Amino acid sequence: FTKSLFGGDDRAAEAAGQEVLVALDTGADAVFSYVLPDAMGSVAVGQRVEVPFGRGNKKKVGFVIGLPKHDDADEATADDGRAFKLKAVTKIVDDEPLLSEKLVRLAKWISDYYVCPMGQVLGAMVPAAVKKGVGVKKKSFLYLGECYKDKKLTSGKQKAIVAVLEDLLATNPEHAIEKSEVLEEAESSPGPLRRLIAEGIVMQESREVLPGLPDVPEEFLEASGADIVLNDEQAAALAKIGESMEQDDFGVTLLYGVTDSGKTEVYIRAIQKAVERGEQAIVLLPEIALTTQTVNRFKQRFEWVAVMHSGLSAMERNAQWQRIKHGQADVVLGARSAVFAPVRKLGLIVVDEEHEGSYKQDSVPRYHGRDVAVVRAKLEGAHVILGSATPALETLENCRTKEHFQLVEMRKRVNDLPMPKMRLVDMTMVRGADEDDGVTLISPDLEDKLRAVLSRGEQAILLLNRRGYSNFVYCPKCRHTLHCKNCDVTLTFHKRRSGSKAVSFGGRMGHGYAVCHYCMSKTLVPEKCPLCSKRMVMIGLGSQRLEEELSRKVPDARVKRVDSDVMAGAKAEEYYEMLKDFAQGRIDVLAGTQILAKGLHFPNVTLVGVISADTALAIPDFRSNERTFQMLSQVAGRAGRSEKKGEVIVQTYLPETEAIERAMEHDYKGFVEHELGVRAKCELPPYGRMANVLMRDEKFERLSKACGEMRARIDYLAGQLGLDMLVRGPMECGIARMHGQHRMQIVVQAKDATVIGRLFKNLRAMGPIRPAVTAVVDVDPVSL
Ligand code: ADP
Ligand code: ZN
Ligand code: ZN
Repeated sequence: FTKSLFGGDDRAAEAAGQEVLVALDTGADAVFSYVLPDAMGSVAVGQRVEVPFGRGNKKKVGFVIGLPKHDDADEATADDGRAFKLKAVTKIVDDEPLLSEKLVRLAKWISDYYVCPMGQVLGAMVPAAVKKGVGVKKKSFLYLGECYKDKKLTSGKQKAIVAVLEDLLATNPEHAIEKSEVLEEAESSPGPLRRLIAEGIVMQESREVLPGLPDVPEEFLEASGADIVLNDEQAAALAKIGESMEQDDFGVTLLYGVTDSGKTEVYIRAIQKAVERGEQAIVLLPEIALTTQTVNRFKQRFEWVAVMHSGLSAMERNAQWQRIKHGQADVVLGARSAVFAPVRKLGLIVVDEEHEGSYKQDSVPRYHGRDVAVVRAKLEGAHVILGSATPALETLENCRTKEHFQLVEMRKRVNDLPMPKMRLVDMTMVRGADEDDGVTLISPDLEDKLRAVLSRGEQAILLLNRRGYSNFVYCPKCRHTLHCKNCDVTLTFHKRRSGSKAVSFGGRMGHGYAVCHYCMSKTLVPEKCPLCSKRMVMIGLGSQRLEEELSRKVPDARVKRVDSDVMAGAKAEEYYEMLKDFAQGRIDVLAGTQILAKGLHFPNVTLVGVISADTALAIPDFRSNERTFQMLSQVAGRAGRSEKKGEVIVQTYLPETEAIERAMEHDYKGFVEHELGVRAKCELPPYGRMANVLMRDEKFERLSKACGEMRARIDYLAGQLGLDMLVRGPMECGIARMHGQHRMQIVVQAKDATVIGRLFKNLRAMGPIRPAVTAVVDVDPVSL
């Protein structure tokens, strides 16, 4: 830990007291020692204090993260041996710690592992609404003074007030009653009460009152499931989890079960076990899945459920958090950051859809919710259930190699419905209106099916690409696509920074290069097809273009587009509204990227169309095959939930892709085997670790220079420390320019995490890069 460099300042207090280590949220690696004057009492780790900081002694609030024991706490020694005085804490902010000691330890792990300042990690663990105390009100509470019986009361109203308090046994502070309640009950105005207080008959105490909780609307209510009898597979899974929960405090179970195999029911029973033992559980869900439907399912089964998602107002968020902190929640449901929920005795963490990339935070601190869940469980001796129909390859590998991991499988769907029919449409056989570009988004097959569905009064869901910049290169005549010479995978088109002329979808090529997802080798894109000399085109799919085509091809359909960030802030309400409209048949076609979230059940949906299965493949990322497989499996699972026969149409330009072929056959294991082979060859995760140094700046020249410097430092450290690593770049990011900033990256790969850890620990110690640009490290990136 760094000591304060400004301790010698003459304005610093000289009071004797306890030394405290305080982590500040200043962006740098800011942990400083201060002295807590004896007169202030004591603080605990996890509590916030206000301290003077910097030359100007500006007041800053930070978390206490350590209480070192020195005899002479007010005299510390700098690294060079100089003794100096510590500055004094100016105020204790919280009455009690916001974070437990274990959560502070977890923060330390995150700070080290994800290469992020401690103060920022701690800051991210507690919602802003909690830190600001949004919605907390001061209210007066009343109880009877010791001498209340000795005094004679004359006024009837005074008697009434005392009687109310007496009735409720409010004779000590613990049983104090809120003032307005007392007045209402006694049908009195404040006047008589004032006199009672002045005479010491009634005692008054001001207290902070937590904000109230709103009621959750009860739409989409499903049967509670309390009377469900577990099938054999579920019972076996639960038994294995229970065993591990009982005998071995820390343990992880990967619950690999197809969609509708009843995983959620198993989670619920496991949570019940934890609750029976007086422990609490945290359930992490992808943000989009935090619908009323899912939440209600848990509310029907547990008395105390707290919910944390981004659709909450600041006040609601604070209320939920306080409730958890004060032991009024057995189950916490939430997105990624709920992994930090301040439950008192953690028994179980469930991470549903554990393969979801959205568990990784894409801003600092760049932690992975699933991985942090495992570390937290280890610290607190709890159990973790990771649930998925398509587990991440990393998780599978952990089950193979790590001691505390077990794999439990569920193959059957509870309702015995078969997996839906999946039909592949080879888009290279489909010609659009313009022969030259030959691009269309809705194939005649899909168009026919859409019409049929609408004429029967049924509904359809169309799945769009996840990201707008997904493109790949292809010859419209002979269907040649560019392949990597090393890896035998399709190359992805990258727009060249300098040739910033926007290339329109289906437009002409010749302004960029193609990148391999695996070995990251680059090739210039030929303007003409190397096989038939026809001009190459780029295939990309935009939501606007889809809307246009829909309005032309099925003009009568009521279509609604869903943005990918629907759950961000105020949009959540709109999202719920839209789901309701769809459920009640006011929308015919829902088109969007993430609308097939778990927990939603639309029996009238009989068609799901995947506009292009290739768009995930078109992102220059070694996980794109895995993503494509997961996406198609999820679609298949969502589509086949109705007694009405459902159908899935999957459109693709790359019908021979392993991920797509396997997904059509619902063959997860076959896909995994193939994919692991490719990963092993390139030593990619799960067979190696990766970190991405992301650098950005407005000025390209400055950025290039800084990137060069960064690369030089990495190479220097690798040599000095003998680190066995593979370093690539600097190279442009997938999105080479964003918000007016150029973006570049250096990718580091190593056999294990310790090598990466050592590199960044030392890199961090070398201080900021010159020239100064923004540089952040993304450890275990989920997208490149
Ligand atoms: P998953 O989480 O694997 O997708 P769920 O637990 O949500 O599956 O179960 C799917 C549906 O089947 C839910 O409506 C649930 O109430 C019901 N269900 C779960 N287990 C059983 C069972 N053993 N018998 C009958 N219905 C069940
Ligand atoms: Zn060709
Ligand atoms: Zn390659």
